[in-house]
Amino acid sequence: MNERILVVEDEPTIATGLRDDLELEGFAVEVADDGTAALGRILEGKFDLVLLDLMLPGMDGLDVCRQARLKGIRTPVIMLTAKGQEVDKVVGLELGADDYITKPFSRRELLARIKAVLRRSQESAEPGKIHRFGDVIVDTGRCEVSRRGERIDLTATEFKLLQVFLEHRGQVMTIDDLMREVWGRDAILTDRVVYTHVHHLRNKLEENPQKPRFLIGVRGIGYRFDG
Ligand code: CA
Repeated sequence: MNERILVVEDEPTIATGLRDDLELEGFAVEVADDGTAALGRILEGKFDLVLLDLMLPGMDGLDVCRQARLKGIRTPVIMLTAKGQEVDKVVGLELGADDYITKPFSRRELLARIKAVLRRSQESAEPGKIHRFGDVIVDTGRCEVSRRGERIDLTATEFKLLQVFLEHRGQVMTIDDLMREVWGRDAILTDRVVYTHVHHLRNKLEENPQKPRFLIGVRGIGYRFDG
């Protein structure tokens, strides 16, 4: 199936040019010409990539990107900026854009960027990443954990918590960080839920849960994964 690209651009000539170029390359292209409409389309979640102009009527490109990320949309975004918008480029990347390209750009440069971003997003979506710490092996694709060949059964939430720790090896994670990453931003729960799940993970993963080697408590803050 053709990869679907949403072009968000208010200049009709640029939008048409982009659509023609991308369709020639075999992409399925749709165009939105203002920020609010673009956000609505992005939230439908059916695009593989968004080319997002920075200066737009309605809502600007930075806001569109921020809102989409806040709503959990992970679709890759390439920002289209004009010369002199370098500061906005940095902000754009912080807000969750995957890359940017400065106008005027060549068709070749644009296609190279698009392909690179699509490849990265497909790789990160690929299952089967293997993590190791101590004697423990975690296969995130199969959702399997084992120690010295023996399967360790984790609940879905414990597995998700372990994944979050693996993604943030060596970093102190606050209780709030863990709640947000594991249970989601809107979940209403007490700190105790996090303590309990870490406790269970320690019992299952640590050789000596009383003296954890991997799931280290950081007093008054949260935990650090030292795997
Ligand atoms: Ca514009």
